[in-house]
Amino acid sequence: MGKDRYRRQILVKEVGQKGQKTLASKHAILIGGGGLGSNSANLLVRMGIGHIDIIDYDTIDKTNLHRTSVFSEQDIGKNKALVLEKRLQSVNTDVQVKGINKKVTSKNIESLIHNADVIIDGTDNIPLRLLINEKAIKHKIPWVYAGVYETVGMVMAILPKKTACFHCITPTIPAPKTTEIPVLGSLPATIAAIQCNEVIKILLGKQPAGLLIYDVWNQCFDILDIKRNPCCPICGKK
Ligand SMILES: [Zn+2]
Repeated sequence: MGKDRYRRQILVKEVGQKGQKTLASKHAILIGGGGLGSNSANLLVRMGIGHIDIIDYDTIDKTNLHRTSVFSEQDIGKNKALVLEKRLQSVNTDVQVKGINKKVTSKNIESLIHNADVIIDGTDNIPLRLLINEKAIKHKIPWVYAGVYETVGMVMAILPKKTACFHCITPTIPAPKTTEIPVLGSLPATIAAIQCNEVIKILLGKQPAGLLIYDVWNQCFDILDIKRNPCCPICGKK
């Protein structure tokens, strides 16, 4: 592990040498490499998570460029996961970045996440998040939900059987009114950064914060302490 690379991060008392070593030993699986996912992948690679798999079957479109700091016009038409692998591996050769050009389905998800220490949500739809949630709870893998809509973003770290799960909070999340989700260009980077903070905290054994809601336009953060639903079909007792 390159000592100098992380020197300033190791100085953070919550991380230290031990924490940095821990991060280097972890395997993160990022599902979705678009606006949110590309920004999250960028941060996690730089912060030194040892292994990162980035899964996305989609290609980069011109309309993606306003909300990511990783892709350029030269990447248009190329697979998101494979571009992220190439670009981010060159940022940090101390970690392993693997791009996987695949659509995540109920049939392949378990084989894709089986060796994850944490799953990171870079998706843009509720059904896929519910699928991630179900399998993450089943296999006791923590995961960090993140979503953006117009000028509002949400993040929640989910610890199986310890915190509320995504199914417990789904009624709190408004369903998108259109298929093309409106989003302010700077919002995914903001929300991705908060998501990565939660990822780091989980990997270093710190308790997550609850459901965080950030409203850009009114400049306010809210944290909702959502309790587990004892009747939840995914994380409930029955
Ligand atoms: Zn639940």
